[in-house]
Amino acid sequence: MLNTNRVADTRQNADMTRHVHRMFRPPAEKDSVLLRVADGCPHNSCAFCGMYREVRYRVHSLGEIQNSIALAAARNPHARRVFLADGDALALPETLLHHILALLGRAFPRLARVTCYASGHSMSRLTDTALRSLRAARLHTLYMGLESGSEAVLRYMGKRDRAAEMLVACQRVQSLGLSMSVMVLLGAGGVAASGEHVRESVKVVNAMQPRILSCLRLVPVPGTPLWDRVGSGRFELLSEAGAVRELRDFLAGLTLGATVFRADHSSNSLPVAGRLPADKARLLEELREALDAGIFDEHGPGSQSML
Ligand code: SF4
Repeated sequence: MLNTNRVADTRQNADMTRHVHRMFRPPAEKDSVLLRVADGCPHNSCAFCGMYREVRYRVHSLGEIQNSIALAAARNPHARRVFLADGDALALPETLLHHILALLGRAFPRLARVTCYASGHSMSRLTDTALRSLRAARLHTLYMGLESGSEAVLRYMGKRDRAAEMLVACQRVQSLGLSMSVMVLLGAGGVAASGEHVRESVKVVNAMQPRILSCLRLVPVPGTPLWDRVGSGRFELLSEAGAVRELRDFLAGLTLGATVFRADHSSNSLPVAGRLPADKARLLEELREALDAGIFDEHGPGSQSML
């Protein structure tokens, strides 16, 4: 589900729990209460992801979660938003999710929305009735890393979910009133599969019609399988200019009816953001002008790059 758009944030919960590994959250959750309900990711096998590689997956007990909520509520009793961490919190047992939402509703009288990372797998396992009930208990936005619409790219990257599963799951949860924030990973196909990555991602995202769509650029992380593949020449990264062209081509293909679009993460060489479809022409023009100006590195990651 996840990728480089995740922001490490250890501040809020540094002394709220005894867990010391880094906490990641989507940028949009910077003002939310971050509540850790599990350690790590139940999948933890995506080739590009180093977020929880050293963390043994463990769901917190109800008692631990009660303590965490009490501490968070004592610090921030007027909080309106809570983000459940770590990766794929929607994969928690259904009854535990209900307990957590009920506890949060009692602890935070002004609570408006609860959000978390999710995957095609964790969404698929919940029935319509369960999802409606979680939504009624203020579960609001699910963040899912599609990464690519290409099944071949997803397989190469070790994602558990297939694009088709994520598509069906997203359509279903949105029809039940939940909001989807979907992430696409620019450069996930490398040089070899760039065309297919863009083409298939456009198809899947257009069919999903997510409320929020983010594009990030693939950044190899030391200690991951992808890092080794890049180092040994088995995976050729897109150049900085190639990644911007991929963003342009992806955006050009989108036919979204009402989506907040962001490609302004620090991994993106040219930050662009807007509402689709209203801002599509403006965003494409910004990308065209920058590409025409020749300011991007054609042969490497770029001088300002995180790579
Ligand atoms: S699902 Fe994949 S990308 Fe998401 S946290 Fe787990 S290993 Fe990382």
